[in-house]
Formats: sequence, C-alpha cells, structure tokens
Amino acid sequence: MGNGHIYVALGSNQGPRAEHLRSALHELEERGDIRVLRCSSLHETAPVGGPAGQRDYLNAVAELQTALSPRDLLARLQQIEQRHGRRRTVRNGPRTLDLDLLLYDDEVIDEPDLTVPHPRMWTRSFVMEPLREVCEPGWLDGLARATRAGRLRSEYFQLRQEQ
Ligand code: AMP
Repeated sequence: MGNGHIYVALGSNQGPRAEHLRSALHELEERGDIRVLRCSSLHETAPVGGPAGQRDYLNAVAELQTALSPRDLLARLQQIEQRHGRRRTVRNGPRTLDLDLLLYDDEVIDEPDLTVPHPRMWTRSFVMEPLREVCEPGWLDGLARATRAGRLRSEYFQLRQEQ
C-alpha cells in the first residue's frame, strides 16, 4: 500500500495522555488508506518552551505506510488533532494531541505550511529517542547527513543571491 519510511511524532500533555495517543493510532488506520507498521514505546518528557507549569508530555513515534501525498497526510493528521479537541492558542502551550509529520521517505519539502524533514526534529530528544526505536539507524543517519548538506547548500546559494 504505497510508500514506507514515513514517520509521525505523537505527543500529548493534557487529559488522558496515553489514551489520546492510542486512539490516534486507531484513527490513522480507520479509513483503510494508512497502515501503522510499528510504534515506539511511550516516552515521558518535560515540556520544551511554552508557559510554565505545564504537565509532562507522553511522546511516541509511529512508522506508517500510505499512498497519501505528504500534504494529504498532513491534512489527515490535523483532522485527527481537531477531533481530540486540539486548540491552537498559546505557542507551545498544552495540547491534548499533537501530530507532526517528521519524515516522508527521503522527500524534502519546504513550503510555508509544510516542512519535511520536520525542521526541529534533529535536536529534540523527545522525537529522536522514540524515532530511533522504530527506524533503521543507517537509513536515518544517511538522511541526517543529506539534510544537513542540503541545508548548507541552500544557505550558500541564498547568501550568494543576497550579495
Ligand atoms: P503545531 O502547532 O506545532 O502542531 O504546528 C502546526 C503548524 O505547523 C501547521 O500550521 C502546519 O501547517 C505547520 N507544519 C509545517 N511543517 C509541518 C510538519 N512537518 N508536520 C506538522 N505540521 C507542520
């Protein structure tokens, strides 16, 4: 059923956290066009940024298989977030369910509302630790090197254009 090597981060720090994550995995599969191949263990982590006094997060990463395009997959993730009562109010504020598209095979997308690989994933241990549980290390390291090289190349050309 379509492409593999697709990874989504799940996080919750409001309400029944584990239940939000578990039901999100079922909801991903309910229309029959996405398969959840595996999911990491749940990691409990302190919130990064946002207002003080938030609860800790439960985080996980799932590997998916789907023929949906990255954009259609993002729309599906946002629908599921909304069903869980996700309100975008305070930046980095508490959330019932946060779903981020981390990687879509080796595709590089740089659009205003969709960046893949997810730009902040490499430095966030609450993403990288569960991701390493479900991802082949050699493939991930190769992609990290290619992403870094790609970013340096585009910064270089941007600088040259500005000169
Ligand atoms: P957040 O509030 O952290 O869930 O961020 C959601 C916003 O980030 C939405 O407006 C998305 O369009 C945008 N976005 C950009 N790239 C991604 C991505 N790879 N995964 C999820 N959201 C993304």
